[in-house]
Amino acid sequence: MKENKISSPTRRVVVVGAGAVGATYCYALAQSGLADEIVIIDKNKELAEGQVSDLVHGQPFFPTVSIRQGNPADYTDANLIVITAGSAQKPGETRLDLLKKNAAIVGGIAGEVAAMKSKGVMLIVSNPVDVLTYVALKHSGWDRSRVIGSGTVLDSARFRHFLSLHCGVDVHNVHAYILGEHGDSELAAWSMTHIAGIAIDKYCPVCRGCSDWDNERKLIEKQVRESAYHIINAKGSTHYAVGLALVKITASVLRQQNSVLTVSALVEGEFGLKDVCLSVPCIVSDKGIERIVDHKLSPDEMEKLRQSAAVLKSAIESLI
Ligand code: NAD
Repeated sequence: MKENKISSPTRRVVVVGAGAVGATYCYALAQSGLADEIVIIDKNKELAEGQVSDLVHGQPFFPTVSIRQGNPADYTDANLIVITAGSAQKPGETRLDLLKKNAAIVGGIAGEVAAMKSKGVMLIVSNPVDVLTYVALKHSGWDRSRVIGSGTVLDSARFRHFLSLHCGVDVHNVHAYILGEHGDSELAAWSMTHIAGIAIDKYCPVCRGCSDWDNERKLIEKQVRESAYHIINAKGSTHYAVGLALVKITASVLRQQNSVLTVSALVEGEFGLKDVCLSVPCIVSDKGIERIVDHKLSPDEMEKLRQSAAVLKSAIESLI
C-alpha cells in the first residue's frame, strides 16, 4: 500500500458533520490530547459554530487543543478527515432513498477532500458505513489503504462488553471481533475470541460454567446485533460509544499505533472476497490500513462472511 506524508507537524483532525456523533467524537477527542487542532465543518454553519463555542469553553479542563470551524481548504493538511455527515431517515422515505441521499452527501465530500489534495486518511462513519466507504473510495480515487470505515469497531466493543459480563472478566482481557457488515448480516468471529490468552471454547470449562454454551453464544450475538436498535428506541441515537471507538481509531492513525481494529476495508482477495468494503481485522497506522490480517476462519464463519459481503454488494449495485 502506498506511502503518504503530511508536511505540517500539527496533528489536525477535520470532522465533517457536527451532529450527535460528530460533536460527541470532538468532545472525547479534545479530552484525549491526541490532536493539536480539531476543525469542524457542517453544512449547517450555525450548528457548527454552536458546537465550537460549547467545546472551546471547556478548554481550561482538557489538554491544549485548538478547536475551530473550518472549510474545505482545511482538508489539505489534515492527518485525518472523519465524515459523520448524513441525513436521517424521513417519514415515508425508504432505506434505499436514504442510501442514495447519503451516498450523494459522502461521495460529494470525498470528492472535495481529494480535490484539495489531502494526504491524510479518510474515515467514514455515516451509515450505511460499508457502502459509503466504498462510495468515498471511488469518488476520491485514493489508494484503498487511505479510505476506511469505522465498520464494526463499535460492534466489536459491544461484543467484548457482553462477553466480559457473561464471563465475569475485565473487558480489557477479552479479545473478540465482529466481522462483515456494520449491520444485520454481521458475524461474531468465535474462532478468534480469546480470554486470558485461551481460545473461548477452551476457556469455557474453566469459567463459571454455563449450562448451554451454544445457546449463550447465540444470545450474546443477538444482543450485539440488536444494540443499536435498542439504544435508538430508548434515546433516539447512539453517539457515546461510537465517539470513543472513533478516538481509538484516531489514536492508531495519529500515533502510528498499529492497533488491530475491525475497520471497514476494501478487500481485494483477502478472505477470498473482492470489490466490497466490509470489516475484517486490520492493522491501522498513519497510512490508514497497513495490512489486512487475512486469517482462516471456521467454515461456518467464512460462509457468514460471504453472505454479509453479498448483502453489501447488492446494496452497492442498487446505487448504480
Ligand atoms: P445528525 O443528524 O445528528 O448529524 C448529521 C449532520 O450532518 C447534521 O448536522 C447535518 O447538518 C450534517 N450534514 C448533512 N449533509 C452535510 C454535508 N453535505 N456537509 C456537511 N455536513 C452535512 O446524525 P448523527 O446522529 O450525528 O449520525 C451521523 C451519522 O453517523 C449517521 O449516518 C448515523 O447513522 C451514523 N452512525 C454511525 C455509527 C457507526 O458505528 N458507523 C454509529 C452511530 C451513528
